Amino acid sequence: MKKNNYDLVIKNGRVMNPESGLDSVMDIGINGRTISIIQNNNLLGHKVINANGNVVAPGFIDMHAHGQDTENYNIQCLDGVTTALELEGGASDIEKWYKDRENNASINFGVSAGHIPVRIEVMNDPSLGVLPIGDAANKSASEDEISSIVNKIENGLKLGALAVGFGIAYTPAATRDEIHAVFEVAAAYNATCHVHIRGEAQTEVGIEALEEVITASLITGASLHVVHLSSSGRKNAPVMLRIIEDAQLSGLDITTECYPYNAGMTEIGAATVGNWRPEYSDFIWADTVEQLNQEKFEYYQENEPSGMIIMPMIPADVVDECVNSNITAIASDGYIKNGKGHPRTAGTYSKVLGHFVREKGTLSLMNALNKMSLMPAQRLEDRVPIMRNKGRISVGCDADIVIFDPNIVTDQSTYENPISPSKGINYVIVNGTIVVNAGKLNTQVFPGSSIRGIISNT
Ligand SMILES: [Zn+2]
Repeated sequence: MKKNNYDLVIKNGRVMNPESGLDSVMDIGINGRTISIIQNNNLLGHKVINANGNVVAPGFIDMHAHGQDTENYNIQCLDGVTTALELEGGASDIEKWYKDRENNASINFGVSAGHIPVRIEVMNDPSLGVLPIGDAANKSASEDEISSIVNKIENGLKLGALAVGFGIAYTPAATRDEIHAVFEVAAAYNATCHVHIRGEAQTEVGIEALEEVITASLITGASLHVVHLSSSGRKNAPVMLRIIEDAQLSGLDITTECYPYNAGMTEIGAATVGNWRPEYSDFIWADTVEQLNQEKFEYYQENEPSGMIIMPMIPADVVDECVNSNITAIASDGYIKNGKGHPRTAGTYSKVLGHFVREKGTLSLMNALNKMSLMPAQRLEDRVPIMRNKGRISVGCDADIVIFDPNIVTDQSTYENPISPSKGINYVIVNGTIVVNAGKLNTQVFPGSSIRGIISNT
């Protein structure tokens, strides 16, 4: 029978599926947006990708992607990402957020209801970027204001926001009371709280900040996901990993993530930046890659409060321990604007594959794929049923697939050139459409779909 049975066939690739443990040379047949068949060989397709010598894996799912626009989607796609979700910062107007991106994205996208943007609105903060610089950072909310905050977040959840996002470090005046109230509403909608914990990580206060949200999770029943553990914990991160592991062992639904870099990045005007001074010379102004001193730091903080600074602050052994841990998902925390920013946007996933899996050998390839695809899908799937069809290579799942050469794959982005694309990511398929073809991005296709939770009208 000489017939092209499938729209697209991926031939002779090493198919790896972290859910089943499948690791075998197979053909995959795709019809429309869906994986239709996985078998040993001989599939015929209208289009064929020869994946000989390549790994065929579920597309990477980034739970922490701040750059939610064409520029960032394209950069991340070249790193193997097929779904980019903004779950820490989140949004206030969920309907508008999704509408702005429909039919215009190379990869799948989604957002949480964000405590920060909602607090900025309710407290009338003059923020110019995404982080507060006035009352939303510095003033505790009245009872009425707390109920407005809770109502807006509830409204976002009714509209299908994926989770509830928090950056308590950036809203230090938010009381435990307020945080508890927002966890309560998250619990009512089965939404996970994605939290950048409060305060100064290096001290005992950092541990207390972690305990604050574990307590809120325990009391309210809301699931908790602690974002970028390595930068939130720094030298305390290993202790925090143990605390989260213990919490899991005692039955709490608590998870975490990290990125494979030693530097963080944030807006220079953010409330939390004050905690790190006076190590001015550690800071890099992202726009020009210049090293700051006190004078330049104060100038930019005064005149460009929403400009980005990069802060090398995470000890190398902490980065290693976090990336290699069995309980961390990989998430980029990326954000690029006009080609400037942190190299993690373009390089997070290939850096894990090239540096940690191949060069250091501290992480198995299957374990790395699990941390980059299946774990994020599983974290969200209770509230977001469509995630059950992502993060897996299996019949009936969405054809979100990355095909890479495991002997070559590596990151190439640097602080000087943060958008230099990864090497060895040869094909990326999003909902059955080839977006990266033989290493080249097709900018004319927009197969990315909105990822939304259950919408409720009550
Ligand atoms: Zn953060």
